[in-house]
This record gives sequence, C-alpha cells and structure tokens, in this order.
Amino acid sequence: MHYLEVANLTKSFTDTPVFKGISFDISKGEFVTLLGPSGCGKSTLLRSIAGLTTPDSGQIRVAGEDITWLKPQHRGIGMVFQSYALFPNLTVADNIAFGLTMQRINKSDIAHRVAEVIELVGLSGRERAHPAQLSGGQRQRVALARALVVRPRILLLDEPLSALDAPIRKHLREQIRTIQRQLNLTTVFVTHDQEEALTLSDRVFVMNQGQIVQADTAEAVYTRPANDFVASFIGNYN
Ligand code: ADP
Ligand code: MG
Repeated sequence: MHYLEVANLTKSFTDTPVFKGISFDISKGEFVTLLGPSGCGKSTLLRSIAGLTTPDSGQIRVAGEDITWLKPQHRGIGMVFQSYALFPNLTVADNIAFGLTMQRINKSDIAHRVAEVIELVGLSGRERAHPAQLSGGQRQRVALARALVVRPRILLLDEPLSALDAPIRKHLREQIRTIQRQLNLTTVFVTHDQEEALTLSDRVFVMNQGQIVQADTAEAVYTRPANDFVASFIGNYN
C-alpha cells in the first residue's frame, strides 16, 4: 500500500532543472533514507513535500489525498532541519506549542499535547528552559517535538543530526527510530552519513542529479549497487 506518493515531480530554479520528473512511493510506517551528493536535490524534495517549495508540475499524495497545492500547515507533515530554527526568546514548551498555534486548538489541549511530546522525546524537566540553555542534542529534540506535536502523517528529517557530535548523534538517531516505530510514522530522513543510512533504514533511496538511481534495502544498495554511480558514491565513504 502506497502512503506517500510522488509522481512526475518537476522543479527548476530559474533555468536550472532540479527535478525532471521524479517519482517514488513510500509505504505507511516506512523509514526511508535519502542519500546523495550535495546539490542533488534532497532538500528541495523534502521542501516540496512539506509545501515550502512549489513544484512546477507533478503530484504529491498522502493516503490518496492530493496535497501538491495545499498550504504547508494543511498537509499534516512535520519537518526537522539541520539548523534548529528555534525561537531563542521562547521556552522549550512555547517553541513546541508554536507548531499548534496555526491550528484552532484550545489551550488545555495544547498543554496536553506539548507535555505528551516532551515526554516522548525525553525533555521532561526542561519545559521552561530557553534554547540557549540547551545542548545541541536537546535543541534538536525540541525541533523534533515541534514537528511531532501536530501529529503529522509524514515526518521529514533534513540532516537533523549533521551539526551534532558523534556520540550524541548516535544516541539521537536511535531515539528517532524508536519514536518513529512507536508511532508507525512514515519518515523520510536525509543524511550524509552512510552508517546512519545502513543502520536505520527500511529502504535507502540513492539520489543523483534530481533522480532516484536506486531504491532498495540498505543491504542491497551496499552489496548490489544498481550502477556505477551508486557503487562509487557508496564506495567513496567506505
Ligand atoms: P541537497 O539538499 O541535495 O544538497 P538542494 O535541494 O539544496 O540539494 O539543491 C538542489 C539544487 O537546487 C542545487 O543546485 C541548488 O543550488 C539549487 N537550489 C536549491 N534551492 C534553491 C533556491 N532557493 N534558489 C535557487 N537554486 C536553488
Ligand atoms: Mg540539503
């Protein structure tokens, strides 16, 4: 069963095409990692799904609903960026609640949902802290909680761990995967780190120049690369 469907998506910036018709399907609850060189279109793809970038043509569907032209806040999609994008003057709880202010939800429901995701990401006790008082890993957990508080149908993670030190990165990636499994949340995760891709993913999509050149299990991508690009791209990191 296809849950997230991207069909024939095209996008150019001025005269330079990023996508000339990219298509793929992701199942409900699947954790897919996008791997590919810098500039191949990973962020543009996630931003198109989230509604932060407008494609030129094509369709994006979630659970059969065409969301291609919906406003970002009506898509039911949560996104986490590499840079935390937190409001420095707001507390942890208020940063997380901000994700809900666009929606008509009463105050006690907001408080309840914020408490729920704070617990889920392991930030209990830090509700009243400000971002400057948090470690990088904690800030990224706030960003994750803010994405989850809207109860998204799809979670998009654009290199959320890249700015963090290795031990924290490993811990947080395990935590993200645990939460994702617990919620059966359909997730697209962008990383440069091949070990992350190998250990976390149900499937890996290898991207090059706006195309998905292989979509397979991590094991298959590593042991049976579909073409020379995949072989050399994967090989370069070993
Ligand atoms: P990745 O995330 O894989 O590194 P991006 O999606 O950020 O790649 O970028 C894909 C291509 O689109 C790059 O050539 C980049 O320079 C270009 N691009 C991305 N965003 C913009 C923008 N807002 N304006 C112009 N060009 C852009
Ligand atoms: Mg990017």
